[in-house]
Amino acid sequence: MIASNPLDYQVCEGCESIVGAGTVVCPNCHGYRFDNDPIRVVDQALILGSREKRSVTLEDLVEG
Ligand SMILES: [Zn+2]
Repeated sequence: MIASNPLDYQVCEGCESIVGAGTVVCPNCHGYRFDNDPIRVVDQALILGSREKRSVTLEDLVEG
């Protein structure tokens, strides 16, 4: 769960997708600016979670 481990993730400033904390370049938009504020991460996780029940994209990002 992203919401329970926000420190393991960060939010891309370019496309607002959630990527792993160690990500240097966003796999989605190739942006390199991330917001690692845990509050922002949880917020974004909830937003994405409410938009799509199946978080295929999120898992792809985390795995990738
Ligand atoms: Zn991005």
